[in-house]
Amino acid sequence: MNYIILGPPGAGKGTQAKNIAGKFGMVHLSTGDMFREEKESDEVVSKLLSAGQLVPDEIVVNMVKKHLEKDDIIKKGFLLDGFPRTVKQAEELDVVLKSKNIKMEGVLLIDVPFEEAVKRIVGRRICVCGASYHMTLLPPKEDGKCDRCGGKLFQRSDDKENVVRERFAVYERQTKPLIEYYEKSDTLIYINGLKDEKDVFAQISSCIANGL
Ligand code: ADP
Ligand code: ADP
Ligand code: ZN
Repeated sequence: MNYIILGPPGAGKGTQAKNIAGKFGMVHLSTGDMFREEKESDEVVSKLLSAGQLVPDEIVVNMVKKHLEKDDIIKKGFLLDGFPRTVKQAEELDVVLKSKNIKMEGVLLIDVPFEEAVKRIVGRRICVCGASYHMTLLPPKEDGKCDRCGGKLFQRSDDKENVVRERFAVYERQTKPLIEYYEKSDTLIYINGLKDEKDVFAQISSCIANGL
């Protein structure tokens, strides 16, 4: 089973993708996580991330393509989180999937109003292991410490308020047109992201379990 998780920054894509991948056994492919890992080694990527701007389509598409060449990922199925983010990326993804005869079951749109997404982003704290928390909404058991690995939590540099504004502008301009793109192909599934983590998880689980 293969799905795309779409939604504005802070909607809860990463949180849900990790849990859903854990439950259904798919591979979680987060382009944001991949770039954050690469950040230290690649200055161009690092600058774009810090400014809240998108990495060029060609770089992102090639990176995703490499993952889709792995047999175990195709066998387990995958959950794309943070990709595609532009219509161009979506078109390129369609070409790759078609050439490999891979079917995409659906596009899960985690719908959250702007104010809620901002609140979530501002309180977000992450760990190097990929876990994500919220200072008040989803706090770790022990203050500042990762439940999963004990690592020290930190704030993403692009989660600071001045960059957040730019990321939302980028979402409106470059990513939102994807909603119409996937509505046209009848693959879009609306998820109410305003609910708590468990409720959103239940909504997504039920869609997947019913093969929607
Ligand atoms: P995204 O990957 O879409 O940017 P995250 O999954 O990292 O979003 O979630 C953003 C922030 O909101 C994190 O701090 C996370 O702990 C918190 N969060 C995620 N889902 C919910 C929810 N349903 N209710 C409240 N806070 C949430
Ligand atoms: P969020 O979870 O807040 O939506 P991500 O972790 O998905 O953010 O992405 C962080 C940053 O990584 C983006 O602001 C962008 O600079 C870069 N990035 C991630 N995915 C893509 C993509 N598909 N195309 C271009 N840039 C991307
Ligand atoms: Zn951790």
